[in-house]
Amino acid sequence: MIAPDRHPDLLKQLRDVLGPDAVLSRPHERLVYESDAFTLARGRPDAVVLPRSTHEVAEVVKIAARHGLPVIPRGAGTGLSGGCMAPQGGLMIALTRMNRILGIDPLNRSALVEAGVVNLALSREAHRHAQHFAPDPSSQSACTLGGNVAENAGGPHTLKYGVTTNHVLGLEIVTPEGDTLWLGGPAEDCPGYDLLGLFVGSEGTLGIATRLLLRLVPDPQSKRTMLAAFQSVEDASKAVSTLIAAGIIPAALEMMDRTIVEAVEAAFAFGFPRDAAALLILELDGLEAGLDTQAKRVMALCRAAGAHEVRLAKDEPERERLWLARKMAIGALGRLAPSKVTQDGVIPRTQLPDVLAKIAAIGERHRLRIANVFHAGDGNLHPVILFDERDPEQVQRVLEAGSQILDACLEAGGSLSGEHGIGIEKLGHMARMFTPEDLAAMRAVRDALDPRARMNPAKLIPTPGSCTETSALAMLGGSQ
Ligand SMILES: Cc1cc2nc3c(=O)[nH]c(=O)nc-3n(C[C@H](O)[C@H](O)[C@H](O)COP(=O)(O)OP(=O)(O)OC[C@H]3O[C@@H](n4cnc5c(N)ncnc54)[C@H](O)[C@@H]3O)c2cc1C
Repeated sequence: MIAPDRHPDLLKQLRDVLGPDAVLSRPHERLVYESDAFTLARGRPDAVVLPRSTHEVAEVVKIAARHGLPVIPRGAGTGLSGGCMAPQGGLMIALTRMNRILGIDPLNRSALVEAGVVNLALSREAHRHAQHFAPDPSSQSACTLGGNVAENAGGPHTLKYGVTTNHVLGLEIVTPEGDTLWLGGPAEDCPGYDLLGLFVGSEGTLGIATRLLLRLVPDPQSKRTMLAAFQSVEDASKAVSTLIAAGIIPAALEMMDRTIVEAVEAAFAFGFPRDAAALLILELDGLEAGLDTQAKRVMALCRAAGAHEVRLAKDEPERERLWLARKMAIGALGRLAPSKVTQDGVIPRTQLPDVLAKIAAIGERHRLRIANVFHAGDGNLHPVILFDERDPEQVQRVLEAGSQILDACLEAGGSLSGEHGIGIEKLGHMARMFTPEDLAAMRAVRDALDPRARMNPAKLIPTPGSCTETSALAMLGGSQ
């Protein structure tokens, strides 16, 4: 709660700028903002504000600067690494009321949107012009485009089309001091430093994106979507490597293991083969001519790799059902356990069988059930650890298992995050991936742009000797 003696006029100043309905300060109002989808890290902001314009965002940031308060930008709160919570309190700026699509320019294949527009809403609108926004996180019906930019989000179709950074032309941002400026723009190749590239993926630590100029891609003329069932994860992994090595770049190449299939079938009864140890969902897209030939080749390669069943979706409703199953998969796990943590490591594709075996062993060692649903084509793993958050002993085991999974990814020559970011969850692992010099260079950039370290503090880059971060990591069980 904001100490009235330290910040006597704060709430009044915020209400004067935003109006009374856009400032939330009562405990029950702030409660829902204390975590994102990584629910093991919680920190309640002192106040939450809901601005409707860039001007209002800038005014709020200036008020926070005058009061010396941290600022935490927030989209829909679907982040999975604890990037959107307030370990030091402060002002949370939720952009969900800035949700207007300001314009679609089909000739230049671009869209100008406010940061709080939901990902899927943009593609729905752009489909009128036979175009869409390519990054399609499985959370796309909820997450915001501003959140996608901050996390450099990916999705099933980013294997072929690239992640968010490949689809951002320009950004209007409010800096940590409350200034408003544009990074990048409609013209290709802006001279000077690539500040746009720096901002994308900066997890709310360098400023607040308020308006986004995004690239749209044409809807493909045709698609073929297939399901391949395997008796072992090794065979499914072999199929992934074989396909890519054969020069086929599917639009999407996703894997689900037996636990996920069990949950999805229990929830939705899609009719997936329950005897499979692993399923691949594969999608090809492009010009109609030649797509059938390519699909036959893909199905033959899957069979050669050991698939005992390969299905081609016969029509659009069947295709949509396959994708619905994939995108609802993590939600369906709610049937198996009250709580879950979704990890996000990247490994070279050829290491999939080894690392998946290590993850299974980690699960056994810690007596935890771990399900896998992931972007196999990118080697982007998402082990989902199932547990009960009400049991502190289980939470401790989850944190240890999560930490060991990330270590296994690093040992395999991989990375700490494919798309969910570092947030607060993986702060302690940064020093395992980067040298002290690497981290010092990153800190120097952050210090230059946010010298008072108020923008989303205790996230992304560890600060040596920081008390807040130490206590934040202690909050995560001190496992890191
Ligand atoms: C079921 C489920 C499936 C998911 N699937 C995927 C997936 O396939 N691919 C993927 O990449 N992610 C996935 N995610 C993670 C999450 O949806 C993405 O990271 C998404 O980009 C977060 O958007 P958000 O609006 O919810 O951001 P939030 O969670 O609100 O914020 C995320 C981070 O961005 C910062 N931020 C938010 N808005 C702004 C802004 N306007 N300016 C500056 N900083 C900002 C916040 O401070 C925070 O650090 C999934 C999550 C869930 C729950």
